[in-house]
Amino acid sequence: MNYLQKFRIDPGSKVKLRDFDPDFKPAHQHHGSAVDETAHYQEKLRELQDLLYAERRHSLLICLQAVDTGGKDGVINHVLGAMNPQGCRVAAFKQPTPEELAHDFLWRAHCAAPARGEVVIFNRSHYEDVLVVRVHNLVPPKVWSRRYDLINHFERNLVDNGAQILKFYLHISKKEQLKRFKERLDDPAKHWKISEADYKEREFWGSYTAAYEEALSRCSTARAPWFVIPSNHKWFRNLAIARIVVEHLESLRMQYPKPTVDLDCIRREYHAAAKHP
Ligand code: AMP
Ligand code: MG
Repeated sequence: MNYLQKFRIDPGSKVKLRDFDPDFKPAHQHHGSAVDETAHYQEKLRELQDLLYAERRHSLLICLQAVDTGGKDGVINHVLGAMNPQGCRVAAFKQPTPEELAHDFLWRAHCAAPARGEVVIFNRSHYEDVLVVRVHNLVPPKVWSRRYDLINHFERNLVDNGAQILKFYLHISKKEQLKRFKERLDDPAKHWKISEADYKEREFWGSYTAAYEEALSRCSTARAPWFVIPSNHKWFRNLAIARIVVEHLESLRMQYPKPTVDLDCIRREYHAAAKHP
């Protein structure tokens, strides 16, 4: 089975995250064997992105969501960093600015969405408005509960305009998160990532799980699917995402555009010029 199907949340299914093993990895694979395979998919990713950029028929929007330490930065670094920066952009969704708050919650996502030919990675996304916002009652339930339908409409609008949307939830266990917090404490290069909210947010683990389950259940659609990626093993997470993006882009059967000039004519001019350099 390809990874596109294996890790996809089927539209309409009711997600319970306890049914998904964050430790999952295929029996025959280990960190060492994954290095070459991941590099293979990264190379393919680069080729396919070049095609997407040249063809300018589709755009690609990749949404990354996870709890703190889930690995969003790692995926951007190790997987999506393989792409050519020309035609690829990362948009990070932080606490909304006063200007963003003065607009509807989808405004900033729409502004950051990719144009045809472009790849955009959302590091967090418009889903924060049914995740952190729901968990901390930043708006009343009446407001956030309407947002699932609004998100589906918004994504359909992007899809109708040529967007390919792939949404990844990086699934780690609560125990793994604690281990990663410890690693951050031990690594001076990661101290900047530590925030006071990190441990506080752990107390809301159950509420976040419920919020993620609802978002995954209600907003995984045929054209904008969610994938639950087992992410306790970073190497498997990277491999799985690289492979899914490649499998999806290959399914588009993209082609380089036909030349806009008469190549025979240009060739004749080239040969003439080469005779008298
Ligand atoms: P980080 O991604 O670790 O730099 O943190 C960004 C912070 O912004 C996270 O704590 C998010 O939960 C928070 N955030 C993102 N979007 C929203 C939003 N719409 N409302 C409130 N907080 C948000
Ligand atoms: Mg953080």
